[in-house]
Amino acid sequence: MTKPTPLQDLQPDQLVAGIREWVACETPPHDAPRLRTMAELAAHQARQAGLQTELLPVGDANLPLVRIVAGAGAPGKSVLVLAHYDTVHPVGTVERNRVRIEGDRLFGPGTYDMKAGAYLALQALGALYRECPPARPVELLLVPDEETGSRLSRTLIEARARDAAVALVAEPARAGGHCVTSRKGTGFVHIAAVGRPSHAGVNHAHGRSAIREIVHQALALEALTDYTQGITFNVGKIEGGSNRNVVPERASLQADFRVVSAAQAQRVMSIVNALAPVVDGVRLEVQAGLNRPPFERSPQVSALLAQAKRVAAATGFQLDEVPLTGGGSDGNFTAALGVPTLDGLGAEGDGAHTLDEHILISSLPQRLRFWHGLLRDLAWIPAQAQS
Ligand SMILES: [Zn+2]
Repeated sequence: MTKPTPLQDLQPDQLVAGIREWVACETPPHDAPRLRTMAELAAHQARQAGLQTELLPVGDANLPLVRIVAGAGAPGKSVLVLAHYDTVHPVGTVERNRVRIEGDRLFGPGTYDMKAGAYLALQALGALYRECPPARPVELLLVPDEETGSRLSRTLIEARARDAAVALVAEPARAGGHCVTSRKGTGFVHIAAVGRPSHAGVNHAHGRSAIREIVHQALALEALTDYTQGITFNVGKIEGGSNRNVVPERASLQADFRVVSAAQAQRVMSIVNALAPVVDGVRLEVQAGLNRPPFERSPQVSALLAQAKRVAAATGFQLDEVPLTGGGSDGNFTAALGVPTLDGLGAEGDGAHTLDEHILISSLPQRLRFWHGLLRDLAWIPAQAQS
């Protein structure tokens, strides 16, 4: 085996080659065989670095969640690192939209969100572990279904978070390399209305229109939007009816909502669950829930940010936090359990979820040193380790 290159000598070219290999492995949502190929590649690289690694099957399709551990027997709570290796892009995107370099930008599906971030975290962990074992356990979870809400991985993520002192999330960095310290919670509402069909000409008065009902419900939901409080409701899909001349028997809607705090989540959920039909004779079926609880910025998050800022300054850049974002991540799960969480620590770039997705090559060595410094501070230097 060739001797691994010391971290300080790693060149952008070498990091780009490693990231390209990950990006070439397409990982669309719920494509079990392709996800497995990527999981095995990451697991192989982790084992080469000497890290304890296992593939944990989640969901009916046994999607592999990669769990990588350094210092399994070490005392104290762990440093939990979260990344995901699925992307939003369908198979064939790499073929149509080649992984390519233009100037300082490496383009490719999943470069920015978030294979580069996951790759950097693994490289930093491997480099530290090769020097010596950590003073407390470090766990890196590579999640296979984040882009579809982590429904299958959530239980496992939360179980590992319960043993964690802090959580670091390698989701894409924001403009300027900045990080995320709060995220809204995300929820869903599905409403189905069942009315009574009738001939729209001959027997109009007999009918009970499900569409009329669902339009009332759509307006009621949208009225819950309150920008000053950061609450949004979006009715994103409406279906219903059968024909222009039939009073519609069935209609439905799907809505997405975002909230800033757990208290808000509780309040809007109670309103949604109390929705009642407006049109006489129409029945409603309401399903609603929270996919991801709000990630609220606690004083412990501020303390962790202060520590990360010091590491960033020593690495040569100024780390700041961005304002509350509406997008969720697996950091929502850890933060909601009270684990101080820092998110958006991955690669710099732009264009997440689009064909314009790319990372900035020149920033990669610095981001890697940042990860190395942050993990070292949190897990390799016991004096600084939090209990
Ligand atoms: Zn992501």
